[in-house]
Amino acid sequence: MRRSKTQSQTPLVKITCYGSVSEIGGNKVLLEDGDLRLLFDFGKSFGRYNKYFDGVFTIERNVRGLLDVFLLGLVPPLRGLVREDLVPAFDPTRLQKTAPTSKLSNYRLSPLDIDAFWNHWQADAAHYFPDLRRDDPERPTVDAILISHAHQDHIGDLGYVDLTIPCVSTRLTAFISKVLVDIGGRSGAPLANRVALSRQGMLAPDRGSAAYIGRPWLFVDDVPPSHTNADTDVLGDAGLFWASSPSTKGLQLARFDKLPVGGKLAGRSIRHWPVDHSIPGSVGYAVETLAGWVAYTGDLRMHGKQGDLTRAFAQALAELKPVALLCEGTRLTEPNRTTEAQVHDKCLRQVQDAVGRLVLADFAPRNIERLLAFADIADQTHRTLLIQPRDAYLLRAIHLAAPAAIPDVMQYPYVALFPDPKATEGKKWERVTRTRYKNKIVSLPQIQHHLADYILAFSLSDLADLNDLQFLTGNKLGGLYIFSNSPAYDEEQQVDLQHLWYWTKHLGMELVGLQNHHGELRPEPGYHASGHAGADDLVEFVRTVNPRQLIPIHTEVPDKWRELLVGTNIEVTQPMYAQPISIDG
Ligand SMILES: [Zn+2]
Repeated sequence: MRRSKTQSQTPLVKITCYGSVSEIGGNKVLLEDGDLRLLFDFGKSFGRYNKYFDGVFTIERNVRGLLDVFLLGLVPPLRGLVREDLVPAFDPTRLQKTAPTSKLSNYRLSPLDIDAFWNHWQADAAHYFPDLRRDDPERPTVDAILISHAHQDHIGDLGYVDLTIPCVSTRLTAFISKVLVDIGGRSGAPLANRVALSRQGMLAPDRGSAAYIGRPWLFVDDVPPSHTNADTDVLGDAGLFWASSPSTKGLQLARFDKLPVGGKLAGRSIRHWPVDHSIPGSVGYAVETLAGWVAYTGDLRMHGKQGDLTRAFAQALAELKPVALLCEGTRLTEPNRTTEAQVHDKCLRQVQDAVGRLVLADFAPRNIERLLAFADIADQTHRTLLIQPRDAYLLRAIHLAAPAAIPDVMQYPYVALFPDPKATEGKKWERVTRTRYKNKIVSLPQIQHHLADYILAFSLSDLADLNDLQFLTGNKLGGLYIFSNSPAYDEEQQVDLQHLWYWTKHLGMELVGLQNHHGELRPEPGYHASGHAGADDLVEFVRTVNPRQLIPIHTEVPDKWRELLVGTNIEVTQPMYAQPISIDG
């Protein structure tokens, strides 16, 4: 049959995965719809990253900018998408001198050397890594990055992305992303270190007056309101928090706005729905393309407190009759198991039985649902939950982001602050937190004399702080250690659990939630609920949505979907790294 004039040889709608292909995390999904370009997330692939780097002895070299992450295949070398200021210099004699604006920034690469760097990646792979620069320099190369939630495997590589490209997210996701940069000090999703080349050709943070550059942001809910102009307390209101720099050096704030009503971006409708996951502010998206609706789940589950949100998301997508659904499948081989409610009850019983003993609760730092569960357990057992200053900073920030949904936990009489000795108070977030909550800081002698009155919300990185208490009490600290965290996914995490095991032995603590099977440490059922739906719920979700085409991402076993969807008309299309999938209308 002859093609009609309106049909083009090249597909109008294409989806290309630059991550999350047969792996968990590293989501970087490019959706091209005519001349509209959107990305779903831009996360870090921990699986691939940890093959090369241990974060201690072998670390990526910031002085070489993009080189390591490109060569190791961690970030796709897409010109126009990735920051041009991170192009490395190899020959300092070729650097050009410019008018100095700060100590470092008077050297730059010649346009020829910059082109040579990009041509290197395009030489034999231009098809996989196209030059995304537009003819219209005013229009961002990618119109927007739709962020599903603030886990690093979804946002962790945004620090490499051109800072004129706007992000779209909930206020909660934006604020949690900012907390990560404020505390971590490195470039991240909402802002990045300004860099410059030294005379020797090394890339280094430019410590000039505006050391940080912000990224334009479109909030799906609403812009952070500000009630005051006085920049005295960055935790005072949402607007101040968003506009604040992570350090005493300035932040060049970018424009931010509400996603237009109806979610129209470049003429296309973008819709979002809140979903249940192990971090607040998580959403899934659908975009109305020329071929029909394309949906993206982000990460989700149905067994948390807000499982109904995920079910409502499935129903809403079903009504749109999507042509394609990009769906996560982290736990495709596991059945549904423990729910958050069961974890709460099990941990409550343990704490009730630990009369007269110190209790330590170990859970993921940004798992707010779990933190609230332990706050509730503290209340019910007449204890005080002691949290680290970094958690107090995060809690206040997310309360400012969503005051109706997230309580101001630090106001609770049964939540207080641990006097973290690791903190130097040199960092801005630390000073701000300690000043704001100075009346909430409990001293070490206070804890030492009333061990059984507290639950310590600690992680492995805080365990050495328990030596202080062990010294003060004069003998083994003792008490109950509740491991309410995810299992070890790789050797490195298994080593972490070994450390934890030795610490509890050293401190004389009883460990629950983790079992030792001939040297291998495995979680004991009932103390942790996954952030991801199990196979049964995932299948229910996809069957409800009933897309024409399923594109499995964020799973190590994408093939599994075919057998799980037997008997349906849903076509499963396996994505391949950097290879576009055409979506026909
Ligand atoms: Zn996640």
